[in-house]
Amino acid sequence: MNYYAPPIARLIEELGKLPGVGPKTAQRLAFYLLNSPREYVESLARAMVEAKNKLKYCSVCMNITDSDVCSICSDPVRDKSTICVVEDPRDVVAMEKTKNYKGLYHVLHGVISPMDGIGPDQLKIKELISRCTDDVKEVIIATNPDVEGEATAMYISRLIKPLGIKVTRIAHGIPVGGDLEYADEVTLMRALEGRREML
Ligand SMILES: [Zn+2]
Repeated sequence: MNYYAPPIARLIEELGKLPGVGPKTAQRLAFYLLNSPREYVESLARAMVEAKNKLKYCSVCMNITDSDVCSICSDPVRDKSTICVVEDPRDVVAMEKTKNYKGLYHVLHGVISPMDGIGPDQLKIKELISRCTDDVKEVIIATNPDVEGEATAMYISRLIKPLGIKVTRIAHGIPVGGDLEYADEVTLMRALEGRREML
C-alpha cells in the first residue's frame, strides 16, 4: 500500500537506490526537491544527464574524461615513462592532490575479487598491458592495501615484469585495509616516495 501519489512514490524509490540512502533519507530528499525552486530541480536533473552523456573513458588511461584523451595523458610535461595503476578515478584525484607525482595513470575500475565474481577480464588490465611499450620504465601499483588490492597487484606484476619493466608497489604508509581515496596528502606522498620493487 503506497500512501504517496505515484510521481512522488517513484521519486522516493529512485532516490532510495542511491548508495547510502535509506528509505527515510529518500523521503526527506524527495520532499526537499518538491519544495525547491523549479530552476534548481531542472539544473540538478540536467547535470546528472549531462555527466552521464558527456563523460567517457580516456582511450589511453581509462580515467573518466569529457575528451578523447584526458588532460593528464595529453599534458606534454608529464613523464610518460611512469604509469601509476589505481583502482578508480577518485584515486587519481587523491594522487594529484599530493602534487608530487608527475607520471601518467592507469585506472583499473575495480580489483580482482572472486567473492564478488570480478575477474581480471572485467578490469582494464588488457589496456594496461598494451600500454607497456619500450617507452615505459616503471609501473607503480597503487591499489589499496587490502586483500583484493594486494592480489590484484601481484597479478599485474606477474604480467608486466617479464616485459622487462620495473614494477613497484607503494609503501604501507596507508593503513592496511585503508582506502587510498581517504589517505591524507602527506601519507600518500610518503607511500609513493617509499615504494618498493615487487618481487
Ligand atoms: Zn588519460
